[in-house]
Amino acid sequence: MKNINPVLDPTDGQKMKTMININNLSPIFIILLVFISGAKQVEKKLEPEDVKLKGRIVCLSEEIHHHYKMELSADHQHLYGLKSDNGKYYTLLRTSLSEALFLDLRLHEKDLIVKGRVFPNSQLLELMSFKSIMDGVLHEIYYYCDTCYIRAVSPGNCDCCQAPVVLIEKPVNSDTLIPSP
Ligand SMILES: [Zn+2]
Ligand SMILES: [Zn+2]
Repeated sequence: MKNINPVLDPTDGQKMKTMININNLSPIFIILLVFISGAKQVEKKLEPEDVKLKGRIVCLSEEIHHHYKMELSADHQHLYGLKSDNGKYYTLLRTSLSEALFLDLRLHEKDLIVKGRVFPNSQLLELMSFKSIMDGVLHEIYYYCDTCYIRAVSPGNCDCCQAPVVLIEKPVNSDTLIPSP
């Protein structure tokens, strides 16, 4: 009689569970369990991948036009991305940290080391930082107002005096005459 109502006795309840686990699972139920646990894994959210890449900024539309003869008008809107030396193209997301690469075409002539995140199931690249390599030496890139000694991440006018900021490229970890805030 005790086993009919296991809630009254926790020990018997445990025995009941054990009995169910070992003896009462039909093969269909086991298959169902496997299916459910598999489904849970698919539901797990994919995370962005941190990357460090070397390459140059290019117009991806022009690259595809060049390699695959895709139709492209001369006055197209450029689709900027990184042509990585790992052989892959990454579409560059436009953020405050990547803005300079959209505005300053001089940066397209440079070999860059970029750090950022690539989003799941895509080649979309969010930039966290970029530096250049010149003559094998890593260089920091930023914009500078030498009147106000203010540093900026993208070209344009100085926040303070409104004069245009200048592009600075200086070797990382080296002393330089250019003052740094
Ligand atoms: Zn283009
Ligand atoms: Zn200024």
